[in-house]
Amino acid sequence: MSNNYRPETKCIQSGWKPKNGEARVLPIYQSTTFKYESSEQMGRLFDLEEAGYFYTRLQNPTNDAVAAKICDLEGGVAAMLTSSGQAANFYAIMNIAEAGDHIVCASALYGGTYNLYAHTLKKMGIEATFVDPDAGEEELHAAFRENTKAVFGETISNPSLVVLDIEKFAKAAHAHQVPLIVDNTFATPVNCRPFEWGADIVTHSTTKYMDGHATCVGGCIVDSGNFDWDAAKEKFPGLTTPDETYHGVIYTERFGKLAYIQKATAQLMRDLGSIQSPQNAFLLNIGLETLCLRVERHCENAQKVAEYLENHEKVAWVNYAGLEGNKYHELAKKYMPNGTCGVISFGLKAGRDGAVAMMDHLQMAAIVTHVADARTSVLHPASHTHRQMNEQELLEAGVQPDLIRLSVGIEHVEDIIADLEQALAYV
Ligand SMILES: *Cc1c(COP(=O)(O)O)cnc(C)c1O
Repeated sequence: MSNNYRPETKCIQSGWKPKNGEARVLPIYQSTTFKYESSEQMGRLFDLEEAGYFYTRLQNPTNDAVAAKICDLEGGVAAMLTSSGQAANFYAIMNIAEAGDHIVCASALYGGTYNLYAHTLKKMGIEATFVDPDAGEEELHAAFRENTKAVFGETISNPSLVVLDIEKFAKAAHAHQVPLIVDNTFATPVNCRPFEWGADIVTHSTTKYMDGHATCVGGCIVDSGNFDWDAAKEKFPGLTTPDETYHGVIYTERFGKLAYIQKATAQLMRDLGSIQSPQNAFLLNIGLETLCLRVERHCENAQKVAEYLENHEKVAWVNYAGLEGNKYHELAKKYMPNGTCGVISFGLKAGRDGAVAMMDHLQMAAIVTHVADARTSVLHPASHTHRQMNEQELLEAGVQPDLIRLSVGIEHVEDIIADLEQALAYV
């Protein structure tokens, strides 16, 4: 029934459903372990024959309530929280790929995800091919191999702000019988629900808008339940053949549409253990309650700031999909008609030195690595996250040396613009 609620209502009402006399507000189950009356009962949990809690490394009731809320917001069938967005993107792949396998990724990616897929997964025997997100169908199809197991992209890429053509990527993935995984961190389910456009699995760094206050690192994986693993049985043996570590359970047989998340919990969390702490999940849940309100204001403010910058004589260029002339404006209107996100990038005519001069004179906006929280913040990748690179390497990584990443907060927009205005006077 709650699936008919609008996002504003789900943000408040989904997840924790207290029974008679229980806490109205989601409690923190600050316990590593859970008690049972008989050895037999506990045994059934270990055989995956009964659902229940036994150890917080695998599952915790606080975490599950928050995962259920995110699941509802995305329109999925099952979800799990992870300790970080990195862990979510790692597990999302590891759950269906192993040494000798291959994945296809849109090349416009968060730096951490690029490193994970290009280097760390490679050391584990999983290779990635990176394709231009604007590639035509033919070029996209050419990236696939016999051993390809998944396609990955970001709804709005961080920091390059490329809007993914989700339908195009879903079509290519499905033609090769593999799922499309979309990192929906920047758009959030408030602005885009990738499952409605054919994505099969969604991941999040909940660290960003979902938490919204820069208090907790966290992640989430949501499954739409739409991908038919049995139709491509030989590609996904981990889901469709017996798991000897659980007495030969076959995940798709036993759990149907819940197979993917069940396996990720039972195997990956058990063995790798990147669980979110229940304390952090509690704080994330409070953040989620105001997600709709905040995202709306982030987008409204970012639109006004982007328009202000576009008309400023010292500004060379502005990248924000909400602007009419932006390369991704039409795709953004299709997938995110209510707005994209609060992050803008821009460059100054005075280049790299100008960027540094401006940033050093900001009074309210803070220089931080983080993006997508309530406070306006800035970062100059060439001086910070990418400072070890020379100009040539920066350009190859898609980071213009003058690029300033501005994460527009939910302060009054006139105060944000006034801060930029006075800082730009020093350029
Ligand atoms: C931040 C981010 C991540 C990584 O998340 P952490 O919570 O920092 O581990 C992954 N994807 C995107 C799009 C991000 O912005």
